[in-house]
Amino acid sequence: MVMKTARAGAERRTGYRVPYPAIGSALGTDEIAAVAEVLRSGDTLSCGQRREQFEADFRALIGTKYALSLTSGTTALEMATYLIGLRPGDEVICTPQTYQATIEPLLDLDVTVRFSDIDPDTLNLDPHRLQALVTPRTRAVYLVHYGGLCAAMDPIMEVAELHDMVVVEDCAHALGASYFGRPAGALGHIGCFSFQSSKNITTLGEGGMITFDRDEWADNIARIRANEPDADFVPSSSPLSPYGPPPTELYEHQKNAYTHDCTALRSGGTNATLGEVAAAVGTVQLRKLEEFNRRRREVTSKLDEGLSRLAGVRVLTPPPGHESAYHLYTFFVSPQAGLSRSLVARALEDFGIEMQLRYFPLHLLPEWRRKGHGVGECPVAERLWFEEHLNLPCYPMLTDEQVDIMIQAVEWAVETTRVR
Ligand SMILES: *Cc1c(COP(=O)(O)O)cnc(C)c1O
Repeated sequence: MVMKTARAGAERRTGYRVPYPAIGSALGTDEIAAVAEVLRSGDTLSCGQRREQFEADFRALIGTKYALSLTSGTTALEMATYLIGLRPGDEVICTPQTYQATIEPLLDLDVTVRFSDIDPDTLNLDPHRLQALVTPRTRAVYLVHYGGLCAAMDPIMEVAELHDMVVVEDCAHALGASYFGRPAGALGHIGCFSFQSSKNITTLGEGGMITFDRDEWADNIARIRANEPDADFVPSSSPLSPYGPPPTELYEHQKNAYTHDCTALRSGGTNATLGEVAAAVGTVQLRKLEEFNRRRREVTSKLDEGLSRLAGVRVLTPPPGHESAYHLYTFFVSPQAGLSRSLVARALEDFGIEMQLRYFPLHLLPEWRRKGHGVGECPVAERLWFEEHLNLPCYPMLTDEQVDIMIQAVEWAVETTRVR
Protein backbone atom coordinates (compact mmCIF):
# COMPACT_ATOMS: atom_id res chain seq x y z
CA MET A 1 0.00 0.00 0.00
CA VAL A 2 2.71 2.41 1.01
CA MET A 3 4.70 1.37 -2.06
CA LYS A 4 1.82 2.19 -4.38
CA THR A 5 1.20 5.56 -2.78
CA ALA A 6 4.85 6.53 -3.11
CA ARG A 7 4.91 5.61 -6.78
CA ALA A 8 1.69 7.41 -7.62
CA GLY A 9 3.09 10.41 -5.78
CA ALA A 10 6.21 10.36 -7.91
CA GLU A 11 4.16 10.26 -11.12
CA ARG A 12 2.04 13.18 -10.02
CA ARG A 13 5.05 15.16 -8.94
CA THR A 14 7.12 14.58 -12.07
CA GLY A 15 4.49 14.13 -14.78
CA TYR A 16 6.49 11.16 -16.14
CA ARG A 17 4.87 7.81 -16.89
CA VAL A 18 8.06 6.24 -15.59
CA PRO A 19 9.92 8.68 -13.32
CA TYR A 20 13.43 8.21 -12.02
CA PRO A 21 13.32 6.99 -8.41
CA ALA A 22 13.35 9.62 -5.69
CA ILE A 23 13.65 6.65 -3.34
CA GLY A 24 15.42 3.49 -4.50
CA SER A 25 13.90 1.15 -1.93
CA ALA A 26 10.43 0.76 -0.42
CA LEU A 27 9.74 2.28 2.98
CA GLY A 28 6.69 1.14 4.89
CA THR A 29 5.18 0.32 8.24
CA ASP A 30 8.25 -1.61 9.46
CA GLU A 31 10.48 1.42 9.01
CA ILE A 32 7.91 3.72 10.62
CA ALA A 33 7.68 1.31 13.57
CA ALA A 34 11.47 1.29 13.90
CA VAL A 35 11.57 5.09 14.01
CA ALA A 36 8.77 5.20 16.61
CA GLU A 37 10.47 2.55 18.73
CA VAL A 38 13.69 4.55 18.98
CA LEU A 39 11.86 7.78 19.76
CA ARG A 40 9.64 6.17 22.41
CA SER A 41 12.57 4.38 24.07
CA GLY A 42 14.12 7.52 25.49
CA ASP A 43 17.52 6.05 24.58
CA THR A 44 20.32 8.18 23.25
CA LEU A 45 19.95 9.22 19.61
CA SER A 46 23.70 9.11 19.05
CA CYS A 47 26.29 6.32 19.18
CA GLY A 48 24.02 3.74 20.80
CA GLN A 49 22.90 0.16 20.41
CA ARG A 50 21.05 0.66 17.07
CA ARG A 51 24.26 1.71 15.40
CA GLU A 52 26.01 -1.32 16.93
CA GLN A 53 23.25 -3.59 15.63
CA PHE A 54 23.27 -2.14 12.12
CA GLU A 55 27.05 -2.49 11.89
CA ALA A 56 26.95 -6.06 13.22
CA ASP A 57 24.33 -6.99 10.60
CA PHE A 58 26.41 -5.33 7.91
CA ARG A 59 29.56 -7.20 8.96
CA ALA A 60 27.63 -10.44 8.82
CA LEU A 61 26.42 -9.66 5.31
CA ILE A 62 29.71 -8.45 3.81
CA GLY A 63 32.02 -10.68 5.82
CA THR A 64 34.65 -8.06 6.64
CA LYS A 65 36.06 -7.81 10.14
CA TYR A 66 34.89 -4.19 10.39
CA ALA A 67 31.92 -2.19 9.17
CA LEU A 68 31.71 1.37 10.50
CA SER A 69 28.67 3.47 9.69
CA LEU A 70 29.05 7.06 8.57
CA THR A 71 26.90 9.97 7.46
CA SER A 72 27.30 9.33 3.70
CA GLY A 73 29.04 7.37 1.00
CA THR A 74 31.12 10.44 0.24
CA THR A 75 32.32 10.51 3.85
CA ALA A 76 33.25 6.84 3.54
CA LEU A 77 35.37 7.67 0.48
CA GLU A 78 36.99 10.55 2.36
CA MET A 79 37.81 8.24 5.25
CA ALA A 80 39.22 5.66 2.84
CA THR A 81 41.47 8.35 1.38
CA TYR A 82 42.55 9.35 4.86
CA LEU A 83 43.41 5.73 5.73
CA ILE A 84 45.60 5.31 2.68
CA GLY A 85 47.60 8.36 3.73
CA LEU A 86 48.52 9.67 0.29
CA ARG A 87 51.54 11.94 0.17
CA PRO A 88 52.36 14.72 -2.32
CA GLY A 89 53.57 13.21 -5.57
CA ASP A 90 51.78 9.89 -5.07
CA GLU A 91 49.73 8.46 -7.90
CA VAL A 92 46.29 6.89 -7.95
CA ILE A 93 44.62 4.90 -10.72
CA CYS A 94 40.88 5.59 -11.14
CA THR A 95 37.94 4.68 -13.30
CA PRO A 96 36.51 7.54 -15.36
CA GLN A 97 33.01 6.00 -15.49
CA THR A 98 31.51 6.70 -12.07
CA TYR A 99 29.82 9.34 -9.96
CA GLN A 100 32.14 12.23 -9.15
CA ALA A 101 32.10 11.42 -5.41
CA THR A 102 34.25 8.31 -6.00
CA ILE A 103 37.36 10.43 -6.45
CA GLU A 104 36.26 13.77 -5.03
CA PRO A 105 38.56 13.40 -2.00
CA LEU A 106 41.54 13.29 -4.38
CA LEU A 107 40.79 16.72 -5.82
CA ASP A 108 42.21 18.57 -2.85
CA LEU A 109 45.38 16.49 -2.65
CA ASP A 110 48.62 17.00 -4.47
CA VAL A 111 48.44 13.58 -6.11
CA THR A 112 48.44 12.50 -9.74
CA VAL A 113 45.33 10.73 -10.91
CA ARG A 114 45.65 8.34 -13.85
CA PHE A 115 42.32 7.49 -15.42
CA SER A 116 42.27 3.93 -16.69
CA ASP A 117 39.88 3.11 -19.51
CA ILE A 118 36.89 0.80 -19.09
CA ASP A 119 35.68 -2.53 -20.41
CA PRO A 120 32.97 -1.79 -23.03
CA ASP A 121 30.97 -4.84 -21.93
CA THR A 122 30.67 -3.94 -18.24
CA LEU A 123 31.64 -0.23 -17.98
CA ASN A 124 34.02 -1.25 -15.19
CA LEU A 125 37.79 -0.74 -15.04
CA ASP A 126 39.47 -2.87 -17.68
CA PRO A 127 42.01 -4.94 -15.71
CA HIS A 128 44.20 -5.39 -18.80
CA ARG A 129 44.99 -1.68 -18.88
CA LEU A 130 46.05 -1.32 -15.25
CA GLN A 131 49.60 -2.59 -15.38
CA ALA A 132 50.64 -0.06 -18.02
CA LEU A 133 49.62 2.83 -15.72
CA VAL A 134 51.56 1.65 -12.67
CA THR A 135 54.65 3.65 -11.70
CA PRO A 136 56.84 3.44 -8.59
CA ARG A 137 54.63 6.19 -7.07
CA THR A 138 51.30 4.41 -7.56
CA ARG A 139 49.68 3.84 -4.17
CA ALA A 140 46.04 3.08 -4.79
CA VAL A 141 43.26 2.11 -7.18
CA TYR A 142 39.79 3.70 -6.88
CA LEU A 143 37.11 1.78 -8.70
CA VAL A 144 33.35 1.48 -8.77
CA HIS A 145 31.16 -1.57 -9.29
CA TYR A 146 29.21 0.21 -12.00
CA GLY A 147 25.45 -0.15 -11.71
CA GLY A 148 25.93 -2.92 -9.14
CA LEU A 149 28.00 -5.22 -11.36
CA CYS A 150 31.34 -6.07 -9.77
CA ALA A 151 34.56 -5.09 -11.51
CA ALA A 152 36.90 -7.92 -12.55
CA MET A 153 38.42 -8.04 -9.09
CA ASP A 154 40.73 -11.07 -9.33
CA PRO A 155 42.96 -9.67 -12.09
CA ILE A 156 42.76 -6.19 -10.53
CA MET A 157 43.86 -7.49 -7.12
CA GLU A 158 46.68 -9.41 -8.76
CA VAL A 159 48.16 -6.19 -10.15
CA ALA A 160 47.45 -4.36 -6.89
CA GLU A 161 49.20 -6.94 -4.75
CA LEU A 162 52.19 -7.07 -7.07
CA HIS A 163 52.71 -3.33 -6.57
CA ASP A 164 51.49 -2.97 -3.00
CA MET A 165 48.55 -0.75 -3.90
CA VAL A 166 45.41 -0.23 -1.80
CA VAL A 167 42.19 -0.94 -3.69
CA VAL A 168 39.14 1.14 -2.77
CA GLU A 169 35.81 -0.30 -3.91
CA ASP A 170 33.05 2.25 -4.34
CA CYS A 171 30.11 -0.02 -3.50
CA ALA A 172 27.44 2.70 -3.62
CA HIS A 173 25.62 0.67 -6.31
CA ALA A 174 26.70 -2.76 -5.17
CA LEU A 175 25.04 -3.64 -1.88
CA GLY A 176 24.16 -7.32 -2.24
CA ALA A 177 26.34 -7.84 -5.32
CA SER A 178 28.87 -10.65 -5.42
CA TYR A 179 31.83 -11.84 -7.43
CA PHE A 180 32.28 -15.61 -7.58
CA GLY A 181 30.31 -15.85 -4.34
CA ARG A 182 32.22 -13.15 -2.48
CA PRO A 183 30.35 -9.92 -1.58
CA ALA A 184 31.25 -6.50 -2.95
CA GLY A 185 32.94 -4.56 -0.16
CA ALA A 186 35.11 -7.52 0.80
CA LEU A 187 36.91 -7.91 -2.53
CA GLY A 188 39.43 -5.07 -2.33
CA HIS A 189 41.02 -3.49 0.76
CA ILE A 190 38.34 -0.91 1.59
CA GLY A 191 34.63 -0.89 0.71
CA CYS A 192 32.54 2.31 0.69
CA PHE A 193 28.73 2.10 0.71
CA SER A 194 26.01 4.74 0.42
CA PHE A 195 22.49 4.67 1.85
CA GLN A 196 21.45 7.89 0.15
CA SER A 197 17.79 8.06 -0.86
CA SER A 198 18.19 6.57 -4.36
CA LYS A 199 20.41 3.62 -3.37
CA ASN A 200 19.35 -0.03 -2.91
CA ILE A 201 18.62 0.60 0.77
CA THR A 202 18.38 3.90 2.60
CA THR A 203 18.96 5.14 6.14
CA LEU A 204 16.38 7.95 5.94
CA GLY A 205 17.95 9.67 2.96
CA GLU A 206 21.62 9.90 3.89
CA GLY A 207 24.14 7.47 5.30
CA GLY A 208 27.16 5.35 4.49
CA MET A 209 29.41 2.53 5.64
CA ILE A 210 33.09 1.71 5.35
CA THR A 211 34.26 -1.92 5.43
CA PHE A 212 37.72 -3.47 5.78
CA ASP A 213 39.74 -6.02 7.78
CA ARG A 214 42.70 -4.10 9.20
CA ASP A 215 42.71 -3.49 12.97
CA GLU A 216 44.74 -0.27 12.91
CA TRP A 217 42.32 1.26 10.40
CA ALA A 218 39.37 0.44 12.65
CA ASP A 219 40.95 2.23 15.56
CA ASN A 220 41.64 5.32 13.44
CA ILE A 221 38.17 5.54 11.92
CA ALA A 222 36.40 4.83 15.21
CA ARG A 223 38.21 7.82 16.68
CA ILE A 224 38.11 10.35 13.88
CA ARG A 225 34.46 9.75 13.01
CA ALA A 226 33.49 10.82 16.51
CA ASN A 227 35.60 13.91 17.12
CA GLU A 228 37.85 11.86 19.29
CA PRO A 229 41.26 11.67 17.69
CA ASP A 230 42.77 10.93 21.06
CA ALA A 231 40.58 10.23 24.04
CA ASP A 232 43.54 9.09 26.08
CA PHE A 233 45.22 11.11 28.73
CA VAL A 234 48.11 13.12 27.29
CA PRO A 235 50.85 13.69 29.85
CA SER A 236 51.67 17.38 30.20
CA SER A 237 55.30 16.50 29.76
CA SER A 238 54.47 15.39 26.23
CA PRO A 239 56.88 16.92 23.75
CA LEU A 240 53.81 17.39 21.56
CA SER A 241 52.44 20.19 23.69
CA PRO A 242 53.73 23.57 22.50
CA TYR A 243 52.48 25.33 25.63
CA GLY A 244 54.47 23.48 28.24
CA PRO A 245 52.87 21.86 31.24
CA PRO A 246 49.37 23.05 32.12
CA PRO A 247 48.73 24.62 35.54
CA THR A 248 48.68 21.82 38.11
CA GLU A 249 45.16 22.63 39.28
CA LEU A 250 43.87 21.70 35.78
CA TYR A 251 46.01 18.64 35.59
CA GLU A 252 43.51 16.07 36.75
CA HIS A 253 40.78 17.49 34.53
CA GLN A 254 42.75 17.10 31.37
CA LYS A 255 40.96 14.02 30.24
CA ASN A 256 37.51 15.41 30.96
CA ALA A 257 38.44 18.53 29.07
CA TYR A 258 38.99 16.37 25.99
CA THR A 259 42.66 16.93 25.58
CA HIS A 260 43.35 16.10 21.99
CA ASP A 261 46.61 14.85 20.65
CA CYS A 262 45.95 14.90 16.94
CA THR A 263 49.52 14.46 15.85
CA ALA A 264 49.45 10.70 16.23
CA LEU A 265 46.78 10.65 13.53
CA ARG A 266 46.87 12.70 10.40
CA SER A 267 43.46 14.21 11.00
CA GLY A 268 41.86 16.39 13.61
CA GLY A 269 38.79 14.22 13.36
CA THR A 270 35.26 15.07 12.39
CA ASN A 271 31.74 14.17 13.38
CA ALA A 272 30.49 11.63 10.88
CA THR A 273 28.60 9.05 12.89
CA LEU A 274 25.25 7.69 11.79
CA GLY A 275 22.42 8.63 14.18
CA GLU A 276 20.36 6.00 15.99
CA VAL A 277 17.10 6.54 14.12
CA ALA A 278 18.84 6.20 10.77
CA ALA A 279 20.69 3.09 11.94
CA ALA A 280 17.47 1.48 13.18
CA VAL A 281 15.89 2.02 9.77
CA GLY A 282 19.06 0.66 8.15
CA THR A 283 18.68 -2.60 10.06
CA VAL A 284 15.09 -2.99 8.84
CA GLN A 285 16.03 -2.10 5.24
CA LEU A 286 18.96 -4.52 5.26
CA ARG A 287 16.57 -7.37 6.07
CA LYS A 288 14.61 -6.51 2.92
CA LEU A 289 17.65 -6.10 0.68
CA GLU A 290 17.38 -9.50 -0.92
CA GLU A 291 13.74 -8.93 -1.79
CA PHE A 292 14.48 -5.44 -3.19
CA ASN A 293 17.36 -6.78 -5.30
CA ARG A 294 15.25 -9.72 -6.48
CA ARG A 295 12.70 -7.27 -7.90
CA ARG A 296 15.50 -5.19 -9.45
CA ARG A 297 16.78 -8.35 -11.13
CA GLU A 298 13.28 -9.15 -12.39
CA VAL A 299 12.87 -5.66 -13.88
CA THR A 300 16.32 -5.94 -15.46
CA SER A 301 15.68 -9.29 -17.11
CA LYS A 302 12.30 -8.15 -18.49
CA LEU A 303 13.98 -5.06 -19.97
CA ASP A 304 16.87 -7.16 -21.33
CA GLU A 305 14.44 -9.52 -22.96
CA GLY A 306 12.43 -6.73 -24.58
CA LEU A 307 15.36 -4.60 -25.68
CA SER A 308 17.73 -7.26 -26.99
CA ARG A 309 15.20 -8.05 -29.77
CA LEU A 310 15.69 -4.56 -31.25
CA ALA A 311 18.16 -4.05 -34.10
CA GLY A 312 21.13 -1.89 -33.11
CA VAL A 313 20.44 -2.23 -29.37
CA ARG A 314 22.88 -3.98 -27.03
CA VAL A 315 22.18 -4.88 -23.41
CA LEU A 316 24.70 -5.44 -20.63
CA THR A 317 25.61 -9.08 -20.12
CA PRO A 318 27.11 -9.87 -16.71
CA PRO A 319 30.23 -12.05 -17.08
CA PRO A 320 30.12 -15.49 -15.42
CA GLY A 321 30.41 -15.43 -11.64
CA HIS A 322 29.07 -11.86 -11.33
CA GLU A 323 25.80 -11.37 -9.44
CA SER A 324 24.76 -7.73 -9.82
CA ALA A 325 22.84 -5.59 -7.34
CA TYR A 326 21.03 -4.12 -10.39
CA HIS A 327 21.25 -0.55 -9.16
CA LEU A 328 21.20 1.00 -12.64
CA TYR A 329 19.79 -0.27 -15.91
CA THR A 330 22.13 0.42 -18.83
CA PHE A 331 21.85 -0.35 -22.54
CA PHE A 332 23.63 0.78 -25.69
CA VAL A 333 22.58 1.88 -29.16
CA SER A 334 24.82 1.42 -32.18
CA PRO A 335 25.75 4.37 -34.45
CA GLN A 336 26.56 1.76 -37.13
CA ALA A 337 22.87 0.80 -37.04
CA GLY A 338 21.88 4.43 -37.63
CA LEU A 339 21.13 5.20 -34.00
CA SER A 340 22.17 8.24 -31.98
CA ARG A 341 22.05 7.98 -28.25
CA SER A 342 21.14 11.66 -27.88
CA LEU A 343 18.18 11.37 -30.26
CA VAL A 344 17.02 8.16 -28.60
CA ALA A 345 17.30 9.78 -25.16
CA ARG A 346 15.22 12.75 -26.30
CA ALA A 347 12.57 10.49 -27.82
CA LEU A 348 12.37 8.49 -24.58
CA GLU A 349 11.79 11.73 -22.65
CA ASP A 350 9.01 12.62 -25.09
CA PHE A 351 7.45 9.22 -24.47
CA GLY A 352 7.30 9.94 -20.73
CA ILE A 353 10.39 8.12 -19.49
CA GLU A 354 12.54 10.24 -17.23
CA MET A 355 16.09 10.07 -18.56
CA GLN A 356 19.06 10.45 -16.26
CA LEU A 357 22.28 9.38 -17.90
CA ARG A 358 25.03 8.17 -15.61
CA TYR A 359 27.83 9.24 -15.72
CA PHE A 360 29.62 11.91 -17.75
CA PRO A 361 33.27 10.73 -17.88
CA LEU A 362 35.03 12.18 -14.88
CA HIS A 363 38.25 13.12 -16.66
CA LEU A 364 36.25 15.55 -18.82
CA LEU A 365 34.63 17.39 -15.90
CA PRO A 366 35.95 20.96 -15.52
CA GLU A 367 37.65 20.26 -12.19
CA TRP A 368 39.69 17.42 -13.71
CA ARG A 369 40.36 19.23 -16.98
CA ARG A 370 41.82 22.04 -14.90
CA LYS A 371 44.31 19.46 -13.64
CA GLY A 372 45.37 18.62 -17.17
CA HIS A 373 42.99 15.83 -18.10
CA GLY A 374 41.10 15.86 -21.36
CA VAL A 375 39.64 14.25 -24.45
CA GLY A 376 41.44 11.18 -25.77
CA GLU A 377 42.55 9.94 -22.37
CA CYS A 378 39.95 7.16 -22.17
CA PRO A 379 38.68 6.51 -25.71
CA VAL A 380 36.36 3.63 -24.79
CA ALA A 381 34.66 5.54 -21.97
CA GLU A 382 34.31 8.59 -24.23
CA ARG A 383 32.92 6.71 -27.24
CA LEU A 384 30.39 4.82 -25.15
CA TRP A 385 29.27 7.92 -23.30
CA PHE A 386 28.90 10.23 -26.26
CA GLU A 387 27.56 7.72 -28.80
CA GLU A 388 25.99 4.66 -27.22
CA HIS A 389 25.19 4.80 -23.50
CA LEU A 390 21.62 5.02 -22.15
CA ASN A 391 20.03 4.34 -18.76
CA LEU A 392 16.44 3.57 -17.87
CA PRO A 393 14.81 3.87 -14.43
CA CYS A 394 15.33 0.65 -12.43
CA TYR A 395 13.95 0.25 -8.92
CA PRO A 396 11.88 -2.26 -6.98
CA MET A 397 8.66 -0.26 -6.93
CA LEU A 398 8.30 -0.23 -10.72
CA THR A 399 5.17 -2.07 -11.84
CA ASP A 400 5.19 -4.63 -14.65
CA GLU A 401 3.09 -2.17 -16.61
CA GLN A 402 5.79 0.49 -16.29
CA VAL A 403 8.42 -1.99 -17.44
CA ASP A 404 6.28 -2.72 -20.52
CA ILE A 405 5.90 1.01 -21.16
CA MET A 406 9.70 1.33 -21.13
CA ILE A 407 10.10 -1.47 -23.65
CA GLN A 408 7.48 0.10 -25.94
CA ALA A 409 9.18 3.46 -25.48
CA VAL A 410 12.59 2.16 -26.56
CA GLU A 411 11.07 0.34 -29.52
CA TRP A 412 9.33 3.53 -30.62
CA ALA A 413 12.37 5.75 -29.95
CA VAL A 414 14.66 3.49 -31.95
CA GLU A 415 12.23 3.21 -34.89
CA THR A 416 11.43 6.90 -35.14
CA THR A 417 15.00 8.18 -34.79
CA ARG A 418 16.91 5.62 -36.86
CA VAL A 419 18.76 7.12 -39.84
CA ARG A 420 18.75 4.71 -42.77
C1 LIG B 1 25.69 7.85 -4.40
C2 LIG B 1 27.09 7.59 -4.79
C3 LIG B 1 28.16 8.06 -4.01
C4 LIG B 1 28.00 9.01 -2.87
O1 LIG B 1 27.22 8.59 -1.84
P1 LIG B 1 26.50 9.66 -0.89
O2 LIG B 1 25.95 8.84 0.21
O3 LIG B 1 25.43 10.34 -1.71
O4 LIG B 1 27.53 10.61 -0.43
C5 LIG B 1 29.44 7.71 -4.38
N1 LIG B 1 29.66 6.94 -5.45
C6 LIG B 1 28.67 6.49 -6.24
C7 LIG B 1 29.01 5.64 -7.42
C8 LIG B 1 27.35 6.82 -5.95
O5 LIG B 1 26.37 6.38 -6.74
